[in-house]
Amino acid sequence: MKISNILMDKKPSVSFEVFPPKQETGLDDVKAAAGAIAALKPSFMSVTYGAAGSTSKLTIEVASDIKNLHGVTVLPHLTCVASSKEHVTNMLNQIRENNIDNIMALRGDLPKDGIICHDYAHASDLIRDIKAQAPDLCIGGACYPEGHVESAHKADDIHFLKEKVDAGCDFLTTQMFFDNNIFYNFLYRVKDEGINVPVVPGIMPITTAKQLSRSVQLSGTSVPERFKAIVDRFGDDPVSMRQAGIIYASEQIIDLIANGITHIHVYSMNKPDVAADILKNLKGIVS
Ligand code: FAD
Repeated sequence: MKISNILMDKKPSVSFEVFPPKQETGLDDVKAAAGAIAALKPSFMSVTYGAAGSTSKLTIEVASDIKNLHGVTVLPHLTCVASSKEHVTNMLNQIRENNIDNIMALRGDLPKDGIICHDYAHASDLIRDIKAQAPDLCIGGACYPEGHVESAHKADDIHFLKEKVDAGCDFLTTQMFFDNNIFYNFLYRVKDEGINVPVVPGIMPITTAKQLSRSVQLSGTSVPERFKAIVDRFGDDPVSMRQAGIIYASEQIIDLIANGITHIHVYSMNKPDVAADILKNLKGIVS
């Protein structure tokens, strides 16, 4: 099913993300985690794409299992920073062969070794090419409520976001945020720019202090005082930190739904137990 159709449903729903293993040896464990998350019946599941295309085959394998073995709508990611046009065509063929209807089209982070392929400069170039090669695919794109780390000005970022949507994006998913007001303000800026596709908020349940510092370092996401206090108080106690992090994420989701957002994407990081606990906290709220 196309995710654009799922997002038209007015009933609140949640989707989850998994990431493929770095090497083939970890594939069985990831498939088992993805299967356990699929058993929770999310509205869809996304499968990330390793930096610079390192996991392209495994991304498709995990995504195919989710769709064809577990019957859950799937969203494989694809990045273009190190991809040739030929590689993209090959990935699109594999997506078609596996009966997958959706793709998340990204530029990817600039590789530290500086080795890039110059076929696509930005995600919008990739989206344009996907639209031309596979017009039936539903295409997602990334957006950044606090601005992308490389952007000097938020206004430029929103301007380029509009260009990305005009290139053929059917929906957007946000970078994680820990303060819902940042997301609500972002929605106003998006509307002002004339962007009319659905914007799905991405929520990351933080279950360890280490996970928070790593995620914040990579994404530049700001951490509100309320959440800093939680990490200061519980960061050294794994059981309490896990519980507090799941409750914080659940409260963010409840607040989003209370404010009229119907669909939330959860960065569940291959953790079926975390995904299940979030859904338990949302019982009666999310279908
Ligand atoms: P773009 O939309 O190309 O934007 C990148 C930068 O270029 C921005 O600063 C933008 O303002 C600027 N820009 C855009 N167009 C132009 C233009 N025409 N001229 C000048 N500047 C321009 N990474 C992975 O490696 N694998 C994943 O699976 C993955 N999944 C993600 C999922 C989500 C929901 C999000 C939010 C991020 C994900 N990322 C993933 C990270 C993402 O690849 C990085 O944030 C990357 O640095 C930017 O990708 P993008 O698609 O947003 O790029």
